[in-house]
Amino acid sequence: MARTRNIWVLPEINGNGEEISKLSLGLLTEARYVAEKVGGTVTALVLGDQTQDYSDVLGRHGVAKADIFQDPLLQNFSAEAYAAALLPRIQSEKPWLFLMGHTTIGRELAPRLAALLGTGVISKCAKIELSEPESPKFYRPVYGDQLFQEVIFQTDNTMLVTMDPQFLNVSPAARAGKVRALTIEPNLTAESIKTRHLDYLPADFQTVDVTDADTVVSAGMGAATDELLPMVEELAGLIEGAIGTTRPVVDGGKISRERMIGQTGRVVSPEFYLALGISGATHHVGGIQDSRKIVAVNRDPRAPIFQSSDVGISADLKDVLPKLIERIKRAKNNGEIL
Ligand SMILES: Cc1cc2nc3c(=O)[nH]c(=O)nc-3n(C[C@H](O)[C@H](O)[C@H](O)COP(=O)(O)OP(=O)(O)OC[C@H]3O[C@@H](n4cnc5c(N)ncnc54)[C@H](O)[C@@H]3O)c2cc1C
Repeated sequence: MARTRNIWVLPEINGNGEEISKLSLGLLTEARYVAEKVGGTVTALVLGDQTQDYSDVLGRHGVAKADIFQDPLLQNFSAEAYAAALLPRIQSEKPWLFLMGHTTIGRELAPRLAALLGTGVISKCAKIELSEPESPKFYRPVYGDQLFQEVIFQTDNTMLVTMDPQFLNVSPAARAGKVRALTIEPNLTAESIKTRHLDYLPADFQTVDVTDADTVVSAGMGAATDELLPMVEELAGLIEGAIGTTRPVVDGGKISRERMIGQTGRVVSPEFYLALGISGATHHVGGIQDSRKIVAVNRDPRAPIFQSSDVGISADLKDVLPKLIERIKRAKNNGEIL
């Protein structure tokens, strides 16, 4: 008998607990695309303590069914608790494909589930190709994003995949559908979950992942010089910004790769993005478009970065940086800013 191609998606809820994150809407769009191609259905899994009703948004994105897992031990993410809640359900329902985001949650949960199920996981997938629906091909960037690796599953088990957020697009279904919701109480016991969530601590802006930073100070080739980079770092410290950068700066070994922003680097969405000495190539701009405010400094008034900026300053950083640092220090000393 042909196996039902049920596609599961783990949407993530924003910090305020009210909205499904944009990344998750991208996951739902991808799941719907796969379901349409293979004749399957999409089930969303919502885990929490007192979960809200997300049926409207799930329905708009093509979800047919929502499994709502409710348990006090699911209040905060714990890979152990999530896996304990999901495992029996995966074993009984045997979904064909299970999509998660390649996020803090997906990166921890997917391999744990794979180990428990005795199967594999394809991580950081960029594209799913379905010309042969019985054997989908998964493409993931490798070798510093220079090449794509084509991977297939050879298993009858659930295919576990984490999707790279930067390759996901959000597009609601043509028609909103009704979601069948099922509440599941996994009855987790505190003894069986060995890790405990104690608190969320504010991130250290200097070491924080650029994707989590509220302020990003990015140094391009025009700013990552021996003369200017120390000033960029001082400025970032003063305004509590995480350092970001462009590909040629990383290739030149000045700033580490995990700080590279762009289509093949990290995609950021801070409140404030300061682009220093960055030309504004589409490869870079593709990773900053969700920033709330972009301010750019470049000595070339025709630099493309100005087309993507809310505020553009055409000036030499050798003049701007010392004055800006001095001005911020003075304002801090006077108590004008904290
Ligand atoms: C397949 C592929 C993928 C790529 N992926 C990425 C990616 O993910 N992220 C990424 O960033 N790039 C990526 N790139 C590279 C990208 O195309 C650009 O080459 C790169 O973004 C340019 O970096 P930049 O702006 O730092 O340097 P440049 O283009 O060299 O620009 C430097 C700028 O600094 C200005 N400047 C110089 N000195 C000063 C000064 N003293 N004061 C003020 N301004 C000054 C100049 O006017 C210039 O505009 C990729 C390229 C390819 C081919």
